[in-house]
Amino acid sequence: MVLGGRVVDPESRLEAVRNIGIRSGRIAAISEQRLIGRIQLDAVGQVVAPGFIDLHSHGMVVPSMWMQAFDGVTTTLDLEGGNLPIPDAYAIARDEGRPLNYGYSANWAAARSAVLADTKLDGHFLTNLAAFAKPNWQKLATKAQSAQILALLEKGVQEGALGIGLLVGYARESNHEEYVGAAQIAARYGVPTFTHLRYSNAIEPGGAIEGHEELIAVAAMTGAHMHLCHLNSTAGRQLPQVVPMIREAQRRGLRITVEAYPYGAGSTVIGSQLFDPALLDAQGISETDIFFVPAQKRIESREELIEARKRDPSGPAVVSFLDEDNANQRAALDMAVLYPDAAIASDTIWWVRANGKPVVEPVWPLPEDAYAHPRGAGTFTKILGRYVRERKQLSLMEALRRASLLPAQILEDAAPQMKAKGRIKLGGDADIIVFDPDTVIDKATYANPRQPAQGMRHVIVSGVPLIRDGKLDTTVMPGQPVRGPVGRLPIQSRTSGRAITEMDIITAVQDLRASVGRQ
Ligand SMILES: [Zn+2]
Repeated sequence: MVLGGRVVDPESRLEAVRNIGIRSGRIAAISEQRLIGRIQLDAVGQVVAPGFIDLHSHGMVVPSMWMQAFDGVTTTLDLEGGNLPIPDAYAIARDEGRPLNYGYSANWAAARSAVLADTKLDGHFLTNLAAFAKPNWQKLATKAQSAQILALLEKGVQEGALGIGLLVGYARESNHEEYVGAAQIAARYGVPTFTHLRYSNAIEPGGAIEGHEELIAVAAMTGAHMHLCHLNSTAGRQLPQVVPMIREAQRRGLRITVEAYPYGAGSTVIGSQLFDPALLDAQGISETDIFFVPAQKRIESREELIEARKRDPSGPAVVSFLDEDNANQRAALDMAVLYPDAAIASDTIWWVRANGKPVVEPVWPLPEDAYAHPRGAGTFTKILGRYVRERKQLSLMEALRRASLLPAQILEDAAPQMKAKGRIKLGGDADIIVFDPDTVIDKATYANPRQPAQGMRHVIVSGVPLIRDGKLDTTVMPGQPVRGPVGRLPIQSRTSGRAITEMDIITAVQDLRASVGRQ
């Protein structure tokens, strides 16, 4: 039971004091009447909202999830990257236990690493990292190799992946045709693709406009649902140019969805192609914009960058692209964060010790020397504290919609179970957060990211209190899988039950013309 809080639900638009009853992981009552139950959580003076759904995490391990719980996240999904093989990834999470609900896309980079770099994939977090650190996966594939890569992705989708994760920006010379092929698979099975754009440079050729053009063109030619990851970081200083492109593409009916995180710096591994010294200038960044996490310092010279890339290619690095203290640059960042129907998604990076080792084991609090981009601790509470309360750039209802209902809707076609998430409704999943709207705030900074957000009083995952009265319970692992149907089939024509053919499309267009003619 969650008693006496102000329920704010972005689907029904209910905003009123209610008591919520929970039974077997579901919402069993939403009532003005007093409810009686075994566990009673006081919510008087607090906001009660659907738990946040993060479409973009790379920290699918317990300590990263505990940190995200303080940020109000109850479901965290690895979609831009993803995993493979899909059955193994879900089995590992289930067997080890996860505090938050979890899910994966089929990982294109991993499929390439298996085919082009001989990586043995097993669904483990560390294997995924190692697969990504091998440079060979990034190269141009032969037709036969591309076909093998696409077959691995299709298998993942059939096994219930939530879509296809396409880290194309980390493999710019990979085959354009293969990217189209991945989108065709997604369209055939009715699942989204999640793209880190091929190009995000400020300088042409190969600039952010070209990057967006590719995604828009592929959406148009395949009909696939193309989800554009972290609009803020891939568009960067080009936001004023690319925002109208996306808007217009959406207005013309292309299925493009967007997400953003509210920080002016990005983060990835130092060995990534983005930090190739030969490509830095073209991106309008210098090596001194890069903070190398394992060394806990800024890179000072080109030589130091080359050395770090060689020594520890999977060590994380933070790079600034928009300065939040500069009014113009913050306005550009806000074009992404406040873009109509942009979901809030964190791009959480795993925590790393000073010795370069990721924090994978369940330890809390995190080790003193653990480091990651602060977005893994403060994305959602930064929206609530800064964008809603301090700067009044979003209403509370709209912020909650972008953090819960909207991401659920983005995934509903691929995973019907998402219809029970992102809302406070009878029969819905009891993923519920209770927070103080007057004090909720992010605490993590670039200098000290290891500070959990403040203000979450209770965080309930699948009916189980994970945070209760502000205290994390490390003994419970209530996270449930979010997954598409295992044995997923290509989408069928609704009327006949058979696969959609070209003839169906021609008929549909003729019907449409005829109906327009009648008006
Ligand atoms: Zn990315």
